Amino acid sequence: MKKVMLDESEIPSHWYNILPDLPEPPAPYRHPGTMEPLGPADLAPIFPQAIIAQEVSTERWIEIPDQVAEIYRIWRPTPLYRADRLEKVLDTPAHIYYKFEGVSPAGSHKPNTAVAQAYYNAQEGVKRLTTETGAGQWGSALAFAGTFFDIEVTVYMVRISYDQKPYRRALMETWGATVFPSPSDRTSFGRAVREKTPDSPGSLGIAISEAVEDAATRDDSKYALGSVVNHVLLHQTVIGQEAKKQMEMVGEYPDVVIGCVGGGSNYAGLSYPFMADKLSGERPQTRFIAAEPAACPTLTRGIYAYDFGDTAGVGPVALMHTLGHNFVPDPIHAGGLRYHGDAPSLCLLVKRGLMEARAYSQNECFAEAVRFARCEGFLPAPEPSHALKAVAEEAAAAREAGEPRVILLGLCGIGHFDMSAYDAYLAGKLEDLDLDQSRIDEAVAELPKVPA
Ligand SMILES: *Cc1c(COP(=O)(O)O)cnc(C)c1O
Repeated sequence: MKKVMLDESEIPSHWYNILPDLPEPPAPYRHPGTMEPLGPADLAPIFPQAIIAQEVSTERWIEIPDQVAEIYRIWRPTPLYRADRLEKVLDTPAHIYYKFEGVSPAGSHKPNTAVAQAYYNAQEGVKRLTTETGAGQWGSALAFAGTFFDIEVTVYMVRISYDQKPYRRALMETWGATVFPSPSDRTSFGRAVREKTPDSPGSLGIAISEAVEDAATRDDSKYALGSVVNHVLLHQTVIGQEAKKQMEMVGEYPDVVIGCVGGGSNYAGLSYPFMADKLSGERPQTRFIAAEPAACPTLTRGIYAYDFGDTAGVGPVALMHTLGHNFVPDPIHAGGLRYHGDAPSLCLLVKRGLMEARAYSQNECFAEAVRFARCEGFLPAPEPSHALKAVAEEAAAAREAGEPRVILLGLCGIGHFDMSAYDAYLAGKLEDLDLDQSRIDEAVAELPKVPA
């Protein structure tokens, strides 16, 4: 069977919350000013109540509202494919499967949470949502979701991406959003950055700071986050739940689950329903590999400590792997993987050795993306090309071991909006810069001091 399809009626009825199943309770967020544990009231200016409740919920299963499921039906369930041609090209006995989230209208997994967040905000009377976007995928997803709930969407887009990806901006505007390059002159934080660094390429951290400032200073507005935090990871678990059912239909269970990690949401969404089986002791042997860029190696070279989620230091402080909130990664084409931190629950799993992380540079990843396109057809977004590199390594390991290992991969986005990156790769113009340790050391020297 080439692809495994589910019926619409098999869209999961609940999201899976991993928090109660983690080996230890996650450390509470801290207030950016006092460094004391953060309470729900601290989050009220920027998030609706329902989202705040989900952020700290310890319920294992949270019901998906009908209005959200109804919109999910536009593209869900997503297909699970057997990458049999890739297996042949890689000359491996491994069985390679990929769960394809590129079929959503925005071309990635991000609408899974954008629709849920737009719904909960609309329920509480919010008229306007602000957000940041790196590669443009999150901004497009929220713009798309806003159309269903009459919510005006304002997007602060990292300037380098704004310049490199004009069609992402047009896509957001087509769905009715307003897009500003960040740092912008619309917020006091943006103006301060521009004064200090007039040609700043921007970063996700800076854009987050601008979007939060905008929402917190207006009564009609809230802020929406596309990754990292618990409620976003929660909404993404429709991916893994579907994949589990689809694997069951072909009588397989993955030996290794692989995905790319920017803030952790697509990979958590795919992997947590399988991680649940590892944590419960039902499937202790399953391995999990998080793939990240060598230019922004949060899990492999960051330190595990409390840090600000944003560059301005106005948002919550979280315990996670971090390169430091002032770390500005070199411009790479996998714009969605340029965040300085990662989801706290995912970091905890890495810290506890339950999940492994690997970092790759962009040329070796694009080589895999092109190989994939030439045998499987779909053009991966630059982000999941990192997962494809890890798949190639695991396929080789299976060959050496002579074992038909089962590999499950998250193909979280389509690359049609990233053709300038493919163009640069094919012309041999992509650079792999070494990330000097001193840049990490400098940035992590500026972490907040959090009392024990
Ligand atoms: C946003 C994005 C990412 C990175 O975000 P995660 O939260 O780590 O998933 C990766 N791939 C694609 C296609 C994206 O749009």
